[in-house]
Amino acid sequence: MRLGPGRRPVVAVVGAGFSGLLTAIHLLRGDPDVEVRLLERAPTFGRGRPYRTGNPQHLLNVRASNMSAFHDRPDDFVRWLGAEGGPDAFVSRGRYGDYLHHLFRHELAASGRAVPQQGEAVAAAVDGGRWRVSLACGRTLQADAVVLGLGLPPAGAPPGADAAILADAAYVADPWSCDLAALPAGEVLLIGAGLTMVDVALSLAGGDRRLVALSRRGLLPLGHAPATAASPPGAAMDTPMAALRALRAHARAVGWREAVDSIRPQTAALWRSWPLAERRRFLRHLRPWWDIHRHRMAPVVAERIAGLRTAGRLCVEAGRLERLRRGPDGLEATIRGRGQASAHARTFAAVVNCASPQGDPRAQPGGLVADLLRQGLLRPDPLALGLDVDDALRVLASDGRPAPGLFAVGPLTRGAAWEAVAAPDLRTQTAAAARDVIAYLRQGVLAQAD
Ligand SMILES: Cc1cc2nc3c(=O)[nH]c(=O)nc-3n(C[C@H](O)[C@H](O)[C@H](O)COP(=O)(O)OP(=O)(O)OC[C@H]3O[C@@H](n4cnc5c(N)ncnc54)[C@H](O)[C@@H]3O)c2cc1C
Repeated sequence: MRLGPGRRPVVAVVGAGFSGLLTAIHLLRGDPDVEVRLLERAPTFGRGRPYRTGNPQHLLNVRASNMSAFHDRPDDFVRWLGAEGGPDAFVSRGRYGDYLHHLFRHELAASGRAVPQQGEAVAAAVDGGRWRVSLACGRTLQADAVVLGLGLPPAGAPPGADAAILADAAYVADPWSCDLAALPAGEVLLIGAGLTMVDVALSLAGGDRRLVALSRRGLLPLGHAPATAASPPGAAMDTPMAALRALRAHARAVGWREAVDSIRPQTAALWRSWPLAERRRFLRHLRPWWDIHRHRMAPVVAERIAGLRTAGRLCVEAGRLERLRRGPDGLEATIRGRGQASAHARTFAAVVNCASPQGDPRAQPGGLVADLLRQGLLRPDPLALGLDVDDALRVLASDGRPAPGLFAVGPLTRGAAWEAVAAPDLRTQTAAAARDVIAYLRQGVLAQAD
């Protein structure tokens, strides 16, 4: 990095969702000299993918009391909400987006040292000791450090989908960038049965549709209920199986919600302590169960989903999609039910891909991540959940060394800490990332002074 006399260090933060916005705020607070360029391809800053929804039925799956953007001001969100909701409320995600946008306007844009810029970053390269970030519109900007706060890309194409399907109006590749209400009536297949499917089911339930949610095990997220804080289990959790045994025993004593919540503060440390083979085992065998207990539905959402199932409007099936193509009367999905020897073709009016996002950078067809991967400036983490980063959130290049001045925050770093998805984890992570970036910039200033 080259800092000339009197020149302020510039950090380009790519992505203005929760992670990018909060990293930018902490950078500005942490160093009075730092300038920030905040890049966002969407028209609004601060909301990110989950908090742009205008559907009031899409609720936070975390209580308001735990959604403050700041670890050191835990009541910030509840105070901002005022009379609209107490600490136990599950408010709409759109309202949370309003809160983040408020922070953008009052903490960031008003700082005088941040420049928000709308546009998609498509490439970045080190040029003469600084980063040059290129936008899709053809403009470039220079920075001393780059922070990737890109969130997770949408799920990849479903297995066996032929190329024509991907351009078919009845197939929805990304439920967050599509008008679901425009889908035809009739039977609709939802691929996946997690919280994204729950949102999509709530959006589609109003019309004359019957929804079929398909996942390998046919498991649905469980619901929130009042829970009291409990201490973590005393038993050893040095492997995923040991942790499962410890949690089951603990759940019998204190309740399953309490048991799951009790290990939240130590989940990242546990994850890091497990050898790679054990983490892989967790992903293969235990993750679906962990996910449905850990990522829960707000009570009113759980009630609505139960109502849809009772009314026969939502059916959750266990099985695997083997093929998807256009048939004469709609989209033809070949599905093998769990435990069944043969697969059967069924016709649907529409298909919505609600599967888990694909964090592996090698799966990106183009754009910024693909460009950095091509240059060897980043690599997948060993489990291909996202980007390989070290403890200081520095992105590791193909040779395993930190790419100079390149950092990452948010769910793309979940390979390192596992819990890097929800606001309570990201508010701590983004504050730490800002400290790491500032330390890196200061090293550069000292090097110039030598
Ligand atoms: C449906 C859903 C519901 C959720 N509900 C909750 C909840 O209730 N509570 C909770 O704590 N967590 C929830 N989460 C978890 C959520 O991941 C985090 O709360 C948070 O949104 C992560 O923020 P992020 O900034 O890392 O990613 P995102 O919110 O995805 O933001 C990334 C931003 O980067 C932009 N971007 C990406 N690439 C580029 C590029 N090349 N150039 C410019 N801009 C770019 C995107 O447009 C986007 O705005 C939910 C997640 C989902 C998907």
